[in-house]
Amino acid sequence: MNSVSQKHIALISVHGDPAVEIGKEEAGGQNVYVRQVGEALAKLGWQVDMFTRKASASQQKIVQHSTNCRTIRITAGPEEFIPRDNLFKHIPEFVEQMLKFQQESGIEYEIVHTNYWLSAAVGMELKKIQGCKQVHTYHSLGAVKYKSVSTIPMIAKTRLAVEKEVLETAQRIVATSPQEQEHMRSLVSTKGNIDIIPCGTDIHRFGKIQQQQAKQQLGINPDTKVILYVGRFDVRKGIETLVRAVAQSKLRGNADLKLIIGGGSRPGQSDGKERERIEGIVNELGMQDFTVFPGRLGDDDLPTYYAAADICVVPSHYEPFGLVAIEAMASGTPVVASDVGGLQYTVVPEETGLLAPPKDVNAFATAIDRILSNSEWRAQLGYAARKRVEDMFSWDGVAAQLSKLYNQILEEPLVLPAKDEAIATA
Ligand code: UDP
Repeated sequence: MNSVSQKHIALISVHGDPAVEIGKEEAGGQNVYVRQVGEALAKLGWQVDMFTRKASASQQKIVQHSTNCRTIRITAGPEEFIPRDNLFKHIPEFVEQMLKFQQESGIEYEIVHTNYWLSAAVGMELKKIQGCKQVHTYHSLGAVKYKSVSTIPMIAKTRLAVEKEVLETAQRIVATSPQEQEHMRSLVSTKGNIDIIPCGTDIHRFGKIQQQQAKQQLGINPDTKVILYVGRFDVRKGIETLVRAVAQSKLRGNADLKLIIGGGSRPGQSDGKERERIEGIVNELGMQDFTVFPGRLGDDDLPTYYAAADICVVPSHYEPFGLVAIEAMASGTPVVASDVGGLQYTVVPEETGLLAPPKDVNAFATAIDRILSNSEWRAQLGYAARKRVEDMFSWDGVAAQLSKLYNQILEEPLVLPAKDEAIATA
């Protein structure tokens, strides 16, 4: 048996580049997950290559993050941004280029960990060609997503077929919460092997700074109550619910409030349009005086914003995991979140925060009021939140669980599927 230091692993994330700025429409939790898992695995001795699609001619082909961890950008289709729903036709080229890279570098990956369904398709092809083993994390399930959107995209049928095939054929599926596992079983297939390994956060990065100090750094009055949103501008993130709930809370007598809506956006693109829509609602409700849009929050800003917040709100319509919730919790900040998906796993109602039905403005306003009106309870919730993240959701702990899983899979005999059910890529 090789020592772990000689093992190569490919983390594949076709559309979620682990080396780019986080917080824009197409860059969120998946990019963070791949990057953090990659770096933590490298610390455990794995040689980690993270493959993504080159989305602009100016991007470097290879970005070295640490001695054993790098991002490799593959040219598949034009070197420009392509929305994820239009990427499937470039998957055969991605596979071809990954094979070429392996030939040229003399590395062959015994195990690939794929992320999102597009990468699942890459992994299944590599598995057929090279006999490697596959671990897959969905990040989002088509079967759940398509229940909540009004227009189903053309690609839906292919996506659902890939998501079913990978569940049934990968060596292991990683569900990031028991709720996600339940959705896979009830909506995708009863076949296949699922392990639950959550997403994580850097417990050393968050939780270092005290609330009053953070407020001071951000120029916020110590008595002003801060309500924070962090994330992409996307209708499904439910920012509108939060804005309307805060307006209600203000009307009910919470006079000294500040609402911070943090996240990047590009004018004219879908995230820019959503930001404009949200700004329109803020203006319409007369909330301009106490609402700020600081833009994308970088790695250095995030811990301060989370620490300054009295509450972090995650109002998503659906969330398979929701990294923002555990980042806030790691910072000792209680979370008010939608009662959906992974948020039901990370947030313990009445202990580390509160849950409210998605889109329910009244319920969010009530939850916000309950926490803001009792500072002692707020502190208790924050303390318990930090403890829960330390116990369950550190990246190092997550990577250790993944490393154990990969080792276990490498020792298992490779059982190929009974019949070749290649997905048509035309
Ligand atoms: N994020 C960030 N800066 C921003 C907005 C978001 O770094 O301005 C990060 C955030 O800290 C989190 C990730 O983007 O790590 C969002 O992940 P989450 O799982 O909450 O949502 P997703 O984007 O996957 O839907």
